[in-house]
Amino acid sequence: MLGQPAVLVIGGGISGIQASFDLASRGIKVYLVEKSPSIGGRMAQLDKTFPTMDCSMCILAPKMIDCSHHPNVELLTYSEVKEVKGSPGNFTVKVVKKPRYVDISKCTGCSMCVDNCPVEVPNEFDGGLGMRKAIYMPFPQAVPRTMTIDKENCIECGLCEKVCEAGAVDLDQKPEEIELKVGGIIVATGFDIFDPSQIPPYGYGRHKDVITALELERLLCASGPTGGHLVRPSDGKVPKTIAFIQCVGSRDRRHGNPYCSSICCKYAVKDAVLIKEHDPSARVCIFYIDLRAFGRGFQEFVNRAKTEYGIRFIRSNPGEITYDPETKGLSIWYEDTVTRKIENLNFDLVVLSAALIPRKDVGDLAKVLGIEVDQYGFLKPSSSISEPVDTTVPGIFACGYCLGPKTGDIPDSVSQGSAAASRAAEVIVSGE
Ligand SMILES: Cc1cc2nc3c(=O)[nH]c(=O)nc-3n(C[C@H](O)[C@H](O)[C@H](O)COP(=O)(O)OP(=O)(O)OC[C@H]3O[C@@H](n4cnc5c(N)ncnc54)[C@H](O)[C@@H]3O)c2cc1C
Ligand code: SF4
Ligand code: SF4
Repeated sequence: MLGQPAVLVIGGGISGIQASFDLASRGIKVYLVEKSPSIGGRMAQLDKTFPTMDCSMCILAPKMIDCSHHPNVELLTYSEVKEVKGSPGNFTVKVVKKPRYVDISKCTGCSMCVDNCPVEVPNEFDGGLGMRKAIYMPFPQAVPRTMTIDKENCIECGLCEKVCEAGAVDLDQKPEEIELKVGGIIVATGFDIFDPSQIPPYGYGRHKDVITALELERLLCASGPTGGHLVRPSDGKVPKTIAFIQCVGSRDRRHGNPYCSSICCKYAVKDAVLIKEHDPSARVCIFYIDLRAFGRGFQEFVNRAKTEYGIRFIRSNPGEITYDPETKGLSIWYEDTVTRKIENLNFDLVVLSAALIPRKDVGDLAKVLGIEVDQYGFLKPSSSISEPVDTTVPGIFACGYCLGPKTGDIPDSVSQGSAAASRAAEVIVSGE
């Protein structure tokens, strides 16, 4: 080996986990830097995964554990990359570990602190549909299995410190800066969700029963805020009529982004089927521009959704969602693009398939790394045809949704993670 015999992976979603595990299995030291308190990324928020309908966490959790327990992986969660210098084979990286106010080496995850903390705030992991305490673990399978104090909401009452028998709470913890020497870097920072309140006629943020698909995933998930019972956020009643609106912020130059997010048709069909499995008497409609159901087994899945589950697909342009305060119902007004008529249908719950967009901080990270982003803000591959996981800087690679929509799904993110790991391993071995 000629270069530094280690790789930095930035982002601990499924693609970063796969890249880290592959490199570690080849005997290469990996520093996995994750911004949030736990690795897992978006996949940890999903209920089931299409088209097999496997439980998302059942696939992800063993991968999170294998990766974090691997002797060649050093996990740096709640941390961020601040500076990168050097060249392929020899990068020097500054990472800041943010204070958790809990000592990871002492915390046993017993939850005594959580039980005694008096502060409750909306839980971002559940899309604000449930609550968490100021001291919290983002989700039960979090890795590392430790608490974090959200200092913005903490009132510093000291109760958690008092009840913690392990002496793990440290309200005076300070940020810590560490320096790493690595030969290659892999970026795997994923995506954000488009904020549908930017399309006011849909009423997201005004009507409680207009939610995003990611929020729906949390409502359907057994570990979610309602224990997996699909209820309306406004009154806790079981919705009997549910609509999905596709391409919210995707393929829309006026309100959002011109590109197709490439994943929403697939997850909407999955979620529609899940709703019917929860409640076969529910009426479920999908309002779509045109259905993009590519991928192995997917067209067959759509066909089954129509014939076996009775899900109605309406080719349309939805314009507005109105709310009737008396019935508490939502009306979708749409142009049926087959009959060319303006119609409306009433629903108890409307799910918006919101676009997947670049993370808002990806530009800052790109600057630190000196790599380029494309016209939308996703990371730019050096060549999308022949070098799809190389960035515009040699020695720095990328994988997963931070490169923008391709098929955009988990299998795609996993294969890209492995591809980026192979490319980074070449740098380590050749030093170039
Ligand atoms: C509603 C919905 C349903 C879906 N359903 C399915 C499905 O059924 N099947 C399927 O195959 N796919 C599904 N997907 C797609 C799937 O979520 C993605 O393919 C997958 O999450 C992409 O993984 P990733 O690792 O690229 O990114 P992410 O999962 O977004 O992970 C990125 C990680 O990087 C971290 N990070 C970000 N910035 C930084 C930084 N600067 N420094 C350090 N860390 C950082 C983040 O905190 C996060 O942990 C769905 C997506 C949505 C929105
Ligand atoms: S901080 Fe202390 S009380 Fe809280 S989970 Fe950790 S060990 Fe238990
Ligand atoms: S000090 Fe903060 S985190 Fe701890 S119990 Fe009080 S409010 Fe909760």
